[in-house]
Amino acid sequence: MTTTEEMVRRDLSVLWHPCTQMKDHESWPPIPIRSGSGVWLEDFDGRRYIDAISSWWVNLLGHCQPDISAAIRDQLEQLEHVILAGFSHEPVVRLSEQLVRITPAGLSRCFYADNGSAAVEIAIKMSFHYWRNQGHPEKTRLMNLSNSYHGETLGALAAGDVALYKDTYAPLLRQPVTAPSPDAFSGEPGETAAELAARRADELDALLEEHAHEVCALILEPLVQCAGSMRMYHPLYLRRAREACDRHGVHLIADEIAVGFGRTGTLFACEQAGIRPDFLCLGKGLTGGFLPLSAVLCTEEIYAAFYDDYQNLRAFLHSHSYTGNPLACAAANATLDVLERERVIEANQERIRWMGEATRELRDHPHVADVRQTGMILAIEMVRDRSNREPYPWTERRGQQVYRHALSQGCLLRPLGDVIYFMPPYVINREEIATLARVAGEGIDLATRDRGDRRRG
Ligand SMILES: *Cc1c(COP(=O)(O)O)cnc(C)c1O
Repeated sequence: MTTTEEMVRRDLSVLWHPCTQMKDHESWPPIPIRSGSGVWLEDFDGRRYIDAISSWWVNLLGHCQPDISAAIRDQLEQLEHVILAGFSHEPVVRLSEQLVRITPAGLSRCFYADNGSAAVEIAIKMSFHYWRNQGHPEKTRLMNLSNSYHGETLGALAAGDVALYKDTYAPLLRQPVTAPSPDAFSGEPGETAAELAARRADELDALLEEHAHEVCALILEPLVQCAGSMRMYHPLYLRRAREACDRHGVHLIADEIAVGFGRTGTLFACEQAGIRPDFLCLGKGLTGGFLPLSAVLCTEEIYAAFYDDYQNLRAFLHSHSYTGNPLACAAANATLDVLERERVIEANQERIRWMGEATRELRDHPHVADVRQTGMILAIEMVRDRSNREPYPWTERRGQQVYRHALSQGCLLRPLGDVIYFMPPYVINREEIATLARVAGEGIDLATRDRGDRRRG
């Protein structure tokens, strides 16, 4: 039988892992996983881990969920793939019908790609191209929010604002106009999330006033800026952003790649503000975390601006080789069927409560500045000094110590810097949530104990 040691040796001689300083693996090798079931992952030595981050936010209903597995298997016997230009197939038609039905009313057309970054780029290209088709080729810029994240390919990276991923490549990227994030954690002392959202919305309005003539779209992550340390904001901001975009003739692109499909407590985050974006980007959980697939939904009005005689050259001539892959669509259909049939979003309300209750004590921890939660996303901000929210120097990598402790206790809690978060599959039970909270607390205790404390202790 293959051992962990052998797997690691083979891995490290040929692989280059994503978002990783490979030298770190000299002291902390990657963990080969042999199987998954529900919230659990099992390695080659039989050690088990709770997947508290849904394997980078993709898994919705647990690993190897049997209905999704079966749907892929059935589809595999029928048709694995076919070109989607000039051809069609049942899984992609059914998925499109479902997405149009369950997303905010008025989104009526689905365009597909195979990852979130590609979906973001499609929405940007479509928005620019819409204005060009409408006689406004001067609307060439994008507006975004500070601390936002929209993916890693050049266009998507340019749309985001996380310095760690972006700064190195700045010379390759077009600069968007950046409005300040409504992130509630960045408010003044005593300022409520709603007050900050209103203040930021005023600032957005002023920026749009100044730049709308050159801006095609505002792109944002509704309610939670996930890769930006799980910073959260009040839905009021989305309502105000929608109004401002309408007033200034700018599209609103809602990037729900991370927050869609129930993460924020509702099926889509936009629902909590009662808004309909002009473009909705979906990915990650769309297939339950089984296969790569992303979608961009848009309004009939946008679609109509491209609909013309071929000779007028207004068509959206964009494609990816695997656009609308039938296996991925079958997985997505099965995922949406389970969400609906088993009333998963309703059932999650209890899990949301358990997550809040299990982490209540952490709110008083001397090195925790904030425990925030939006639906099924809960984040713990670890700091040096909670009185002034002073962070630890990033070079100390305290979050990494929490990560390592958690792994030793059977929890996959990969942090974002010093922010520890739970974003688990929707099959996690109360006991598993309690384990995550206990292990996170222990990890934070260990990681924040400085040398002086250790001597005393
Ligand atoms: C992950 C993510 C993306 C990029 O998706 P990929 O599939 O990783 O390319 C885009 N936007 C948001 C909000 C994300 O969290």
